[in-house]
Amino acid sequence: MELVYTCKGCNKDRILDSDSKTREELVSETGGSKFEVNCPFCKKNTVIDVNHVNAVKTSSEQWMPYIVYFGTCIFLLLFFAKQFQIFLLIIPLLIAIIISTSIQSKVKLFNANRIYDNNTK
Ligand SMILES: [Zn+2]
Repeated sequence: MELVYTCKGCNKDRILDSDSKTREELVSETGGSKFEVNCPFCKKNTVIDVNHVNAVKTSSEQWMPYIVYFGTCIFLLLFFAKQFQIFLLIIPLLIAIIISTSIQSKVKLFNANRIYDNNTK
């Protein structure tokens, strides 16, 4: 999962250098519900509202369930070649679904909650 904000200088989505898992964590990390970032591309300082930061899956997280699925399929085909049963293909599918769901729930957890304070309208 990575955090993305829109730079007001170049109007492009930029990745925020943060490991925060929730907006609350981001507020305590940055010290407020609004914080300043320096865009590494246009070099302009932009004030970002934590509520305008969104979590997205990284490209590796998007691919991971598929890689795990096909990897596990190949593994099963190689090691259970002689007594291979079609129902074995449910195992990689379940693993891929579990991985995909856990990544998705992290992204949702971040995006679902909003920070409300007296200075935010
Ligand atoms: Zn910029």
